Amino acid sequence: MNVLFEFFPSYRTKLPYVELADLPTPVQRMERLERELGGAVEALYVKRDDLSGEAYGGNKARKLEFILGEALRNEAKAVMTFGAAGSNHALATAMYARQLGLDCISMLVPQPNAHYVRTNLLMGLRAGAELHHHANMPAVALGSLWQLARRRMRDGKLPLIVPPGGSSTLGMIGFVNAGLELKRQIEQHLLPRPDVVYVASGTMGTAIGLLSGLQLAGIRAQLMAVRVTDPPFTSMRKAHRFFRHINQLLRATDNTYPELPFPEDYLVLRHDHYGSRYALYTEEGVEAVRLVEATEGVRIEGTYTGKTFAALLADARAGLLKGKKVLFWNTYDSHDFSSEIAKVDYHALPKSLHRYFETDVQPLDRATGLA
Ligand SMILES: *Cc1c(COP(=O)(O)O)cnc(C)c1O
Repeated sequence: MNVLFEFFPSYRTKLPYVELADLPTPVQRMERLERELGGAVEALYVKRDDLSGEAYGGNKARKLEFILGEALRNEAKAVMTFGAAGSNHALATAMYARQLGLDCISMLVPQPNAHYVRTNLLMGLRAGAELHHHANMPAVALGSLWQLARRRMRDGKLPLIVPPGGSSTLGMIGFVNAGLELKRQIEQHLLPRPDVVYVASGTMGTAIGLLSGLQLAGIRAQLMAVRVTDPPFTSMRKAHRFFRHINQLLRATDNTYPELPFPEDYLVLRHDHYGSRYALYTEEGVEAVRLVEATEGVRIEGTYTGKTFAALLADARAGLLKGKKVLFWNTYDSHDFSSEIAKVDYHALPKSLHRYFETDVQPLDRATGLA
């Protein structure tokens, strides 16, 4: 159920939308982890967006409701999207596109190897995605033009282009809804109003959609957007641009939507837990993954959520969260797909992707067996 439509009924018909996600996602107190931290936080909660979708959860299901809604409205035959080889977004898009009878073309670039890269590639193949792997972004751009031309010839129309991470303005509206969803859960006393919210920032769409939603909901919480990608993907400039675009779209669609000022004091960009490279795990990120699993049985991972939780732990241990109510927004889908991929042969993938199966995973992934 999309709470945004209750607040603004006109969006139900005016915004493109298809119901895919399982909402609201639960919130849960992490009491064992609180105890482990010995009172360094007053209360610690997790927003279980890992449970946001039957087919595939995590943060992408919320975005895809609007994005694929647009693909259906445009009567597109296919969508084209972009990401790293193991992109969760590319996989989520492929799975939900398939559900809706759309083809998915994924344009991928190299990344450090990990078990989840293998899983996502095989699952993509299984979902019928057309996977293309290029050495760098310029090659992807060229390859995309070629694929678009091919599709245009074949289908008589162009695929809908979905930006990396699904962070189009429409996609981000899924997280405006998430802010209202949280408001409702606070009203229902499922959690107290948080003082601080930790969320991973990859392409920043989740963070800025949520920032908009929290602002709309009147929840004055500090949003810690933990950067896990290269610097240009997460910046204040981009935050302002995304925020403005969300506001413009929602106001243009319904002029009762309020003009929201950018909440300057409530967004903090964290650059200190990135490590050295996208998808290259850090020791502290892996420690966070282990701790969350051991105490709460919640599975997170090394590329996004582990680094984000590491920021939370570091702040708690430095005494910065004393007396604060903290919410960790879990953006990761933790479905176990091992039985689905058991019979999928990687040789059916384009040749340049075979390397992820024929070379070892990165040392920290090997050491922990993070799947
Ligand atoms: C895609 C992804 C993110 C990043 O979301 P953005 O909206 O791109 O910032 C965070 N966590 C996980 C697990 C993801 O797959």
